[in-house]
Amino acid sequence: MTTTASTSASGSASGSTSGSTSGSASGSTRESALLESVPTGLLIDGVWRDASAGDTFAVIDPATGRELARVADATPADAVAALDAAAAAADDWAATAPRVRGEILRRAFDLATEHREDLALLMTVEMGKSLAEARGEVTYGAEFLRWFSEEAVRISGRYGTNPEGTGTTIVSHRPVGPCLLITPWNFPLAMATRKIAPALAAGCTVVLKPAELTPLTSLYFAALLIEAGVPAGVVNVVTTTDSSGVASAVMADDRLRKVSFTGSTPVGKILLKQAADNVLRTSMELGGNAPFLVFDDADVDAAVAGAMLAKFRNIGEACTAANRFFVQRGVADEFAEKLTAKVRELAVGRGTDEGVSIGPLINDAAVAKNAELVDDAVSRGAAVATGGAAVDGPGTFFQPTVLTGITPGTRLLREEIFGPVAAISTFETEEEGVRLANDTEFGLVSYAFTRDLARGHRLITSLRSGMLGLNTGVVSNASAPFGGVKSSGLGREGGAEGIHEYLDTTYTLLPAS
Ligand code: ADP
Repeated sequence: MTTTASTSASGSASGSTSGSTSGSASGSTRESALLESVPTGLLIDGVWRDASAGDTFAVIDPATGRELARVADATPADAVAALDAAAAAADDWAATAPRVRGEILRRAFDLATEHREDLALLMTVEMGKSLAEARGEVTYGAEFLRWFSEEAVRISGRYGTNPEGTGTTIVSHRPVGPCLLITPWNFPLAMATRKIAPALAAGCTVVLKPAELTPLTSLYFAALLIEAGVPAGVVNVVTTTDSSGVASAVMADDRLRKVSFTGSTPVGKILLKQAADNVLRTSMELGGNAPFLVFDDADVDAAVAGAMLAKFRNIGEACTAANRFFVQRGVADEFAEKLTAKVRELAVGRGTDEGVSIGPLINDAAVAKNAELVDDAVSRGAAVATGGAAVDGPGTFFQPTVLTGITPGTRLLREEIFGPVAAISTFETEEEGVRLANDTEFGLVSYAFTRDLARGHRLITSLRSGMLGLNTGVVSNASAPFGGVKSSGLGREGGAEGIHEYLDTTYTLLPAS
């Protein structure tokens, strides 16, 4: 069982805040020492606590199926205690000078960067991605801390005369108040920093509920935030297996003013309905079904390189992952052959092993879903160019796969694959390609490869998604507004837009004197 007795959280991540963990699982001495150092309690009002019922749950290494650690299993009452802390700290944090808030976030950036190897290893062992990709996530995730440390001091308003000339209008912003942040398991650090950094920069306090499959990175990161100087109650963390009970209890409390969620569309819809009762502000980063278009005039080698990133980065477990490849007839064979050759080179294994780029999927259900989708495609006429099946355990691995000749009606054209399966169809004209790309309820990101500038320009308006990678396979960047349209969600994270998700707008009228 876990134990973090009610210890002060002032120590470093590698310091005093840990409870017992199950030790080395399958890994090295360094891995066990790191796991021992991760806090395993709930962070409430600056103190690490056990769950009130004393329960814990296991965190599993998907590459081995073995237990890495046990962490506190919060009850809804624990979550409300976390909201108590966030509500109590809200006024002081909102009144803290923007420069001070920014400096704390900047220290958090420095600490995350300094602890890059630990954060990366934790993500690799609890989520499965390769160490190289996990290191990349630390760079990407930490950048939100630096970006929003800079945005904290640039929250500006407007001052003007109304059109009638009868008054002065002043538009200003203030923090929305306590926020509930719910994150998924696929980017354990970046999804947390992408929400916490703008919230804190804006002057909001938060309750973070990380995914139960990958809580260790968030717990370790929370300790870094405390070390960076985040005051007690400003960031609270509740790990739980009762995500619905915890979220419902916090959202039913009218002290909460905002919920920011990244996860599946069905859960997002539940949360939107719950948010209606207290008219909460919401940010929803939901599912995707990204099209990846390759036109006859594309640089095919560049398109293949982009496809490897858009499809196989993060083992395909990303809402931005290319889900449907549409390749114009003239380059279809060349693209499929070159992509297949590259995919055959991908090494599958535990993400800590040298040279591995495809780690395990997150759990058995994910492997079963990938297998089902491949079988469905094949039963409807698709050909397997490489891969196509699960890998025998231990661990939940699936072969990197390329399917060609996908036919209309195939399930993976409608459903998010969330795995290393590239599914290729062909098209004849730009109009047909665009129609196929837009034929989905989702609209997060599209990718398109073309050397025709005019076509590229047309695609900016004809593709219905919140983001477009034009001749690139990766769009995410802390300085840019990430987000989708249609069933892919509401709101934007990152960029100048990101902080406004956590700010209310107020307007004052002064009559002309
Ligand atoms: P995924 O399919 O990627 O696991 P989910 O939408 O199920 O996506 O999970 C994303 C996050 O939402 C996780 O932190 C999970 O615990 C949480 N979650 C799942 N169901 C609910 C719910 N009913 N209410 C609140 N949070 C939930």
